[in-house]
Amino acid sequence: MSFPISKTYFLAGLHCPKRLWLSICRPEDASPMSLAAEQRIKQGRAIGVAARESFKNGILVDGTLKHCLEKSWELTMVGAGGGVECLFEPAFLYDDILVRCDVLRRLPSGNWEIIEVKSATKLKDEHIADLTLQHYVLEGLGLTVEKTSLMVVNPMARNWSVVRDRFCYQDVTAAVVRWRQQLPQKLDEFRNLLTESTAPQVPIGSHCDRPYRCPFKDTCWRNVPPISILDIPLLKQDKLQQLMESNIWNLEDIPADFSLTQKQRAFIDRMIEGKPRVDHDLLQRLLAQIQPHQPLYFFDVETHSGAIPRFAGLHPYERCTFQYSCHRLNPDGSLEHFEYLHMEDSDPRLPLLISLLHHIGDRGSVVVYSQSFEKGVLQQLAAAYPSYGNKINQIIDRLWDLQVVFKKAYFHPGFQGSYSLKKVLPVMVPHLSYSNLTIKSGDEAPLVWEALLECTVPDEQKQMAQQLREYCCLDTLGMVEIYRVLERELRGD
Ligand code: SF4
Repeated sequence: MSFPISKTYFLAGLHCPKRLWLSICRPEDASPMSLAAEQRIKQGRAIGVAARESFKNGILVDGTLKHCLEKSWELTMVGAGGGVECLFEPAFLYDDILVRCDVLRRLPSGNWEIIEVKSATKLKDEHIADLTLQHYVLEGLGLTVEKTSLMVVNPMARNWSVVRDRFCYQDVTAAVVRWRQQLPQKLDEFRNLLTESTAPQVPIGSHCDRPYRCPFKDTCWRNVPPISILDIPLLKQDKLQQLMESNIWNLEDIPADFSLTQKQRAFIDRMIEGKPRVDHDLLQRLLAQIQPHQPLYFFDVETHSGAIPRFAGLHPYERCTFQYSCHRLNPDGSLEHFEYLHMEDSDPRLPLLISLLHHIGDRGSVVVYSQSFEKGVLQQLAAAYPSYGNKINQIIDRLWDLQVVFKKAYFHPGFQGSYSLKKVLPVMVPHLSYSNLTIKSGDEAPLVWEALLECTVPDEQKQMAQQLREYCCLDTLGMVEIYRVLERELRGD
């Protein structure tokens, strides 16, 4: 097979050779693209467009691929001083490798600078590899590339309308020159593996989810048991590798003399035993931390963030809270529900904060699940609206993390080694589950909110608002019901 590689395939190969092989030879095995992946692509494009405003007299090369290849070549052949200073998205093909540069700029010397634009905020190794491939193709075609640079989003940019503040610009020429030394070998490696009729053997592992979930994970992981060595907490990569190489996946098959920490061994023993275990003394002590502080508020928020801040005053990737749900469990056992969902395309933080301070009174514990998230969100609100700082800090002081119960005092094999609410809730409260909801995870909520803001059909907008409310409400109602189960457990009901 020839090597019809693009930057995307090349980077897939660097991530995992098997992923490259599957992408080209078995693309039908990939899972459908997730909403989050679609969003990342959309965001990457928007960042590319935003970056173009940093360059004067740029020409966008678009149209069919054939046209782009011809046009790019033609424009780069116009000599220095011939008017072409900067091209956006020019396409080049050399050695069966197709690349498109985000920006190609002519330097005063008449040579070229390739500029790669990323929605990340930091330089990553893969960015250098990406630029190296572009460098290889352009030089192969006879263009002199004098400089290679990277533009990443400036996380401190306070005002997105100030174009010069949007990006951090970095000359990475030296790193690209170094990477060039390994490029021929990498290309040979990839070309050779694509001549094989079967996928290369690559053990599965944490790389299948980093930096993002691999589209072939369902295929590669299909034989992994629901509870496996991959669930052992804090198991180091070399140990995992050792077990995988011995084809040991089930916890039962781990040799008794295999070196593990005490906690890991205890986890395995409990999972094999398959029975719930509750440390009643500890559970009692934990619940006693909040029981005297009534009423109990069960609280959850949803946030949105993006490389391009949606509203003035936010910096790139700053979390913007657009929704919360709050259940109040009163001392007499009655339950009330309060919520806020921002429905307008405007900064939701202040109206949400005012509503929140109205709903959460100045007494009573505030129960959350995985405290660091809600605490961080509240701290950001306090920083953005200092006049409300004292009131917000009072809420922060009253936060209590329900997840700690499941980390320390309550074990159930049905949690599958996870402490997440999505795993814990269906076991503790079987009649409540996320499986019937349209939105099933916190990652989807901001995408639906964004779609809601952009939607012009009132019925569809209402439907999305309903989906968001149901999702956030289930988080807090779920916490209430879990709390009630824990109380019954202590009473021995
Ligand atoms: S799931 Fe893992 S092993 Fe399989 S192709 Fe993807 S990264 Fe490679």
